[in-house]
Amino acid sequence: MHPADAVRDLDEAARRLRTCRLCVAAGDGVVPPPIADVRPTHRALILGQAPGIHEPTLGRPFAARAGARLRAWFAAWGLDDEERFRSTFAMTAVAKCYPGREPGQRGDRRPSPAVLARCAPWTAAHLRLLDPPLLVPVGGMAIAATLGPGRLDELVGHRFELEGRTVIPLPHPSGASAWTNAAANRALVVRAVELIAVELRLEPAA
Ligand code: SF4
Repeated sequence: MHPADAVRDLDEAARRLRTCRLCVAAGDGVVPPPIADVRPTHRALILGQAPGIHEPTLGRPFAARAGARLRAWFAAWGLDDEERFRSTFAMTAVAKCYPGREPGQRGDRRPSPAVLARCAPWTAAHLRLLDPPLLVPVGGMAIAATLGPGRLDELVGHRFELEGRTVIPLPHPSGASAWTNAAANRALVVRAVELIAVELRLEPAA
């Protein structure tokens, strides 16, 4: 039985997730601690790919540059303010531990299929215990885990219904992703953020 299957509330999920070392024990080379922020007051859940190199030290999801870029997309609704953003969105990821560097490269490793399989029950627990009306998968891996495989330019900018909740995907805000460099793709991001703002009934920033 996976430890996530037995958790009964979000506090217990946070406590038990913090001590999860399943991938370390399996020799998968991830860097704990697991990073997530899911509280009962959240009504929307961001599902990312994995923490970056700074998050294990900073202890919060999207705490470095990718997070700042993600929040900047929401500036028109005042959610470039970090604490407002964090009180609006719960955050978890398909892999909750930093996967480490790609050998010989500057970028981070993609979480392996084995890591994704081990971490999926924690995501399922977050979804089960929070039951957010809005799910925002961020980046290709999180989108594929939620909606199945598909092209970003056919998914971003659209709203989906899945298992009784709204799903609005976003691309990954990492600087390593070139997808948002194209003007047409940036317009899709603007559209997706507008859809999220409507869903959350956000007021435009003054
Ligand atoms: S990636 Fe997920 S399953 Fe693997 S050790 Fe971290 S929290 Fe546990």
